[in-house]
Amino acid sequence: MASRDFRSELVGSFSEGSNGNPTVAMIEAAFRHHGLNWRYVNCEVPPEMLADAVKGARAMGWRGFNLSIPHKVAVIPLLDGLGESAAIMGAVNCAVNRDGRFIGENTDGKGFLKSLQEVVDPQGRSIVMFGAGGAARAIGVELALAGARSITVVNRSAARGEPLVKLLNEKTNAPATLALWDKTYAIPKAADIVVNATSIGLGNGNAPLDIDVSSLTPAMVVADVIVDPPDTRFLRDAKAQGCTTIDGLGMLINQGVIGVKYWTGLDADPAAMRRSLEDIFAH
Ligand code: NDP
Repeated sequence: MASRDFRSELVGSFSEGSNGNPTVAMIEAAFRHHGLNWRYVNCEVPPEMLADAVKGARAMGWRGFNLSIPHKVAVIPLLDGLGESAAIMGAVNCAVNRDGRFIGENTDGKGFLKSLQEVVDPQGRSIVMFGAGGAARAIGVELALAGARSITVVNRSAARGEPLVKLLNEKTNAPATLALWDKTYAIPKAADIVVNATSIGLGNGNAPLDIDVSSLTPAMVVADVIVDPPDTRFLRDAKAQGCTTIDGLGMLINQGVIGVKYWTGLDADPAAMRRSLEDIFAH
């Protein structure tokens, strides 16, 4: 064995609730598949220790790290710069060591965009998106930067819906409007892409979105962010209506693919990563 094999390149994740985060399995599956001597270390980091964790990553020459709840905003002042979409969103979920500087990126929305682009290019398309939380914000910004014609944010609370619509209108070229979700929602006929970016369906494959299912038409591409279980009621209903569907695993896997590319420069094989997640989420 060559001596260089005794030191692995390190990346990882800083979050609370790290024990429930499957990303490590997916990323390490990619490292194994491609024979890379890299390790992904899933670390439990409380908010008051985040600065020390980042300092530690610098000291140990980590090549980057993911950030999950509750660190996506708090990490920003600890980094050396931000990518375009992370700067617009004001949230970072992936730090990348570029020549010794940690640059904050956001792969949440980019992962979604990549899985969507395997089916349809959002440029010039009308989007209806349910939700206005962290996932919706990331997806909305990336769809806008990718040239979406319009974005309708459908959200239960105005408190989260309004700031997202304002952000999209002020910082991107995609006109956005808010539809308050206070009754059964019928998808407008003009919608090309319909996205569930709420947490409805998480842990319950039968939880319905309060929509008029008959308003989904075969011309629409319908995507869900939920990964557990990936076969959501929303996607099953959309499939029955003849829509093309995209599950949340695609978003998660592509986030991994993008992260691995940022850190290592390698185009990882998504199939190896999907297998590792399907094993985990097979109930
Ligand atoms: P947030 O808590 O930030 O936002 C949750 C959103 O869901 C809000 O818009 C909320 O509306 C809405 N919502 C929740 N329950 C209901 C309900 N019963 N009826 C109507 N609206 C509801 O969560 P995140 O945005 O961080 O995450 C959302 C989901 O995305 C999670 O399930 C997460 O697992 C998934 N996710 C998947 C990823 C992937 O790679 N596939 C990546 C990141 C997230 P309101 O504002 O009114 O409360």
